Amino acid sequence: MIQLALMYHIVVRSQEERRALLNEEQPYALLASEFEQQLALIKQLSLSFMSATVTDSEEDTENKGVLLTFDDGHASFMHQVLPLLQQFNASAIFFVSPGLMKSRTDFVSRQQLRHCSEQGVVIGSHAWSHQFLPDLSESQLKIELADSKMFLEDACSAPVTQLSFPGGRYGKREIDMAMNLGFKRVFTSDIGLIASASDFIQPRFAIRQNTSAPELTKILSGDAHYLKMQQREHQIKALARSVFGHRNYDRLYRLFTKNS
Ligand SMILES: [Zn+2]
Repeated sequence: MIQLALMYHIVVRSQEERRALLNEEQPYALLASEFEQQLALIKQLSLSFMSATVTDSEEDTENKGVLLTFDDGHASFMHQVLPLLQQFNASAIFFVSPGLMKSRTDFVSRQQLRHCSEQGVVIGSHAWSHQFLPDLSESQLKIELADSKMFLEDACSAPVTQLSFPGGRYGKREIDMAMNLGFKRVFTSDIGLIASASDFIQPRFAIRQNTSAPELTKILSGDAHYLKMQQREHQIKALARSVFGHRNYDRLYRLFTKNS
């Protein structure tokens, strides 16, 4: 069986709720009904849900299928996602930026986060303030990772050993720092299948509002041609980022997507 991770962000109840989100969040917001259909598709394809906890390489052979991950910390995780995870008996990692919990009213509260953890959701760090980590100084980077880890461990009374990089931005320095601070596994937005669930660096497939059922089927069946096309597109974007710089790239990206 295949091994891969899907990356989600927000799951809303209605189109109105989606329109109330920030412009840059809307492409990543699925309706609860769409998310439910995707879980059903995973089942239809006879795939299992992977365990969200870090396994060692021996247990790895048992742990195959689809790993569900959710980035940022939006409160819709608790209201829309959690009941569906329970219905489908699926494990998940919820990567949260504590700084956003404090500044945004539509993100999970400390109590809600603890509730998710108590319900079996694995809580991971998404750094403190959701800044792109390669733009930060070494000391800022350390604070982003260490403080978020400490806050989340304290809120959930559980170890936090997994990290996902805000905006999928990382380099060798971010990997080394995560390792030094005791993280066991980090998730990028690089596209690819999971080679081994115990690998330190893990790729993911971003699921957007416009990810169609045929497209998801290609992802879930490990379609080699589709994978290659997606990886090529991702590499071109990464190259553009390295040429223009992370912040300029995002400005350009928004400009082009607005006009197209
Ligand atoms: Zn994020």
